[in-house]
Amino acid sequence: MKKSLLTFTILLLISTTIFSQKLSPIEAKIIAQVNAQLPQTEALLKKVVNINSGTLNTEGVREVGAIFRKEFDNLGFKTEWISLPDSLNRAGHLVAERKGTKGKKLFLIGHLDTVFEKVMSFTPYTYLNDSTVTGQGVNDMKGGDMVLLAALKVLKDNDLLDNTNLTVYFTGDEESSGKPTSISRKDFIERAKQTEIALAFETAVGLNTVATARRGSSGWKLNVKGIMGHSSTVFSQQAGFGAIYEAARILNDFREKLSQEKYLTFNPGLIVGGSEINDNKEAIGKDNIISPRVTVTGDLRFLTETQKENARVKMKEIVAQNLNKTKAEIIFQDGIPSMEPTAENEKVLATLNQVSLDLGFGEVKAGDPGSRGAGDISYIAKYVACLDGLGASGRGAHAPGETMNMKEFPKLIQRTAILIYRLTR
Ligand SMILES: [Zn+2]
Repeated sequence: MKKSLLTFTILLLISTTIFSQKLSPIEAKIIAQVNAQLPQTEALLKKVVNINSGTLNTEGVREVGAIFRKEFDNLGFKTEWISLPDSLNRAGHLVAERKGTKGKKLFLIGHLDTVFEKVMSFTPYTYLNDSTVTGQGVNDMKGGDMVLLAALKVLKDNDLLDNTNLTVYFTGDEESSGKPTSISRKDFIERAKQTEIALAFETAVGLNTVATARRGSSGWKLNVKGIMGHSSTVFSQQAGFGAIYEAARILNDFREKLSQEKYLTFNPGLIVGGSEINDNKEAIGKDNIISPRVTVTGDLRFLTETQKENARVKMKEIVAQNLNKTKAEIIFQDGIPSMEPTAENEKVLATLNQVSLDLGFGEVKAGDPGSRGAGDISYIAKYVACLDGLGASGRGAHAPGETMNMKEFPKLIQRTAILIYRLTR
């Protein structure tokens, strides 16, 4: 008796769980409509992929922006083109907003530009086989822009955008942001601060991995000085070790003391040393002269601000331990902040995971933050909960011949539509 009651309770629990995981009738309708709209969705994707919008082709970026702007106008969004000062040489950004009080305030991120500049040979939108398409920016990230737009369109068709608070932000210079970013990302950051959750539609790694964290990037420059002298006197008390030995010591110490730290990388990208260095970073040197000058420039990538700051402190300590008759200083430059893994980001992932399970697409997990570079979402990650990697799946982003998986495309649109629907109830 007791046992059968227990069995009954367990069965009830299981069936309740299964029931609660099913899609609601309106959600089932959304799914069907995504499929019905697929031909129009793909036609628009083809159209925007076939317009070159390399970051520096500002005309092309604006043209793609105008096409998307019209689409968002049709969905009842208030659209705006954010221009940047001419000195930045960038096209600007597209913003589309809806004001309302229902559910979470969402900040939805895409970008209009691609890494493929006009001087590179053009690859049009082409099917490689029945499920793979290639074309400039099809994967990074016009496919992702379309995942978002198509999802919003289906929600609009069912009046489900009424009274929601959504800001769509398509930047025009994600691949090479206008400098300084304090200007090119000013409006982006200000608008994001008014929202609660940011969803970015950068390249997806299949259906089951998204990004809850992205590493940030920054730069550094090492200036080393020594005393110029005859090579035969090197190591002596008066001549010392010279700038090249000192630079080598510093870089080797960096590697030995810091290279094992998870998610921290720092790469010396350029080193110049000799008897003379000119402004073009060219050096003149002789085998029989102790080098008086070396400069090294590199990057530094990190998962959290704390990790970045700690690394900088350690690097400065290493730099300060100069060899005899040498001096060195290191200058750090901030670049793109990191998107730190937070509990709030995990909560958004949990919602997405439930959507995916309900759709029968399987579990969604957070990917390795070390595998992704920094992105636009990183600029706002300290203000709102964030999830990235929701866009089109495929391969080879940033290389000619990048591809997009057309079998997963409708599923990603469905997932996005249900996610936005549930977050805005
Ligand atoms: Zn991108």
